Amino acid sequence: MKTTTVLRDPKGPPSLKMARFLSDLLDKREGFTAEFEARVREAIAPVIDPSKPVTRPMTKEQAHDTIEWLLAKPKKAPKPKTTTRPPWPDEGLYRHDDGSVWRVYHTQNRRLAAKRLEIQETHDGWAGRFQFVRGGLYRLAEALAEGKVHLMTQAEATEFGRMYNFCVNCGAELTDDRSLAAGYGPTCAVHRGWHYPNKAEAAEILGRPVL
Ligand SMILES: [Zn+2]
Repeated sequence: MKTTTVLRDPKGPPSLKMARFLSDLLDKREGFTAEFEARVREAIAPVIDPSKPVTRPMTKEQAHDTIEWLLAKPKKAPKPKTTTRPPWPDEGLYRHDDGSVWRVYHTQNRRLAAKRLEIQETHDGWAGRFQFVRGGLYRLAEALAEGKVHLMTQAEATEFGRMYNFCVNCGAELTDDRSLAAGYGPTCAVHRGWHYPNKAEAAEILGRPVL
């Protein structure tokens, strides 16, 4: 496309609009060398940012010709959509470095989802409930890829249970000695592969006589 533009002050510097248009064309067109691109960018840099030194001046006329030349170049193919999604976490109980606890589970239609444990203070202690978090699985997957999340260990589950007096895996209050000693309930112990102490072990951990 040939335009017949009469340039005012053709030997003067290109306008800011021209410089920006050139910069945009360099981004979106192809068919020229990196050296050419660098040369043009250097020439228009002081126009876009006056704090940049003028090392390679370009006249308005030259900018105009360069624009015409670039407009005849093919457009860059759109970048293919890259799927940089991190891999989904497996089912399980996770601990985030920020202290939050997450459960990854399969929904009824066999999709993975994530819930976060919400801890509330009650009149006589603490209570926990897992709440679905929209986009939680993605956040967890990202955190996992960044190394900020790990599968909750048995020791962490124990520490948690002793601190809050409920099972970190299901939120049930810990009542009997074995669960109090473990820091989690018997069903969750089996489910997560954590050791569940017998009565004697529990008594020793709690420092009580075996009943
Ligand atoms: Zn439990």
